[in-house]
Amino acid sequence: MSDLDADVQTADEYGGEGPPVAEKPYKIIFEANACFGAGKCAEVSDTWEMSITTGMAKPDTYYITEEDLDHNVEAAEVCPAKKGDGCIHIVDRRTDEEIAPDPHGDGTLSVDW
Ligand code: SF4
Repeated sequence: MSDLDADVQTADEYGGEGPPVAEKPYKIIFEANACFGAGKCAEVSDTWEMSITTGMAKPDTYYITEEDLDHNVEAAEVCPAKKGDGCIHIVDRRTDEEIAPDPHGDGTLSVDW
């Protein structure tokens, strides 16, 4: 592995093993430190709610079914954090690609950790 490869972060490094992929094919990766509490995610997706104690968003699960995909993709796309790039990431666990918001346009995980 080159030094360059070592810098590339992949989604499977986050969140542990989780439920079987066939059951919940999508994973949420949340950059909570970049959330500033705008609440747009909770407006469009039932998975997201605003914490009364912190004022920031939190998902009620990190693994989602096909059924819950669309509203989570929308949450990822409307999130204005990180100058519009968003801090909610929806990853297809079968390919390990970020499907939303995918600001790089190539499926790479767009976290800034
Ligand atoms: S839309 Fe983004 S910045 Fe706003 S509360 Fe949700 S996660 Fe946080």
